[in-house]
Amino acid sequence: MIWIDSHNHLHFPRLGEATALLASLRDAGVARCVVNATAEAEWAAVAALAVVDPERIVPAFGIHPWHAPEVSGLWQERLAGWLERFPQAGVGECGLDRSAAAPEEELQWPVFLAQLRLAREWQRTLTIHCVKAWGLLFEALAVEAPPPRFVLHGFSGSVETARRLLPLGAYFSFCGEFLQPRRAAVLETFRQLPPERILLETDAPDMLPPPAWVSHPLAHCCNHPANLPAIGSGLAAALGMPVAALAKLTTNNARECFGG
Ligand SMILES: [Zn+2]
Repeated sequence: MIWIDSHNHLHFPRLGEATALLASLRDAGVARCVVNATAEAEWAAVAALAVVDPERIVPAFGIHPWHAPEVSGLWQERLAGWLERFPQAGVGECGLDRSAAAPEEELQWPVFLAQLRLAREWQRTLTIHCVKAWGLLFEALAVEAPPPRFVLHGFSGSVETARRLLPLGAYFSFCGEFLQPRRAAVLETFRQLPPERILLETDAPDMLPPPAWVSHPLAHCCNHPANLPAIGSGLAAALGMPVAALAKLTTNNARECFGG
């Protein structure tokens, strides 16, 4: 079986050394992963991984809403520079977040709009983080049209929200934390999504699945990216699909969404 991790943070120091991580991904059948930067200071580390293993690593350069207040004066030019250097790169992780700890909306808004515009102008897949901000997301998409394909990573919105996003080019990515019994409503949403728009992600080192779906335990509750096939088997069971069919579906969808 071949798997694609549509969203992780392989460059985060919490996950340890890259050579060992890449070896365990290979052994687990994870053919490719989209490695998302969350701040300007991480762009060089994400690029370095893509240089070390260009077959397996799709880089994504972006600014997470939590890091929106830290942007430098020339961040948009610098981001465009990385997109030029890596023709396969996406834009992300970016988005909108209205959870209590998130920065003020006024700081997040222009940074997200600029990334929507850059992704559209460069025709790159965009990865969106949206927490408690669906109304605001639709406002943003009305101001700046998205690129042809974009990902709602760790999608926990409603079926109605998904139906509004589908015609705009949205893909919906499932992470292992949604296998927790208290997240059963998310599984119900994924049962109602069009299969051709479902992606699979670890969001490693975050979003740890329940113990039954942890094949690669790590200290400090870190989620290892090689847990992807185990998370996939959890989603396959929930959707009533054979695991191999789910691997094939999500791998094909990820190739459609990110290219290659
Ligand atoms: Zn993430």
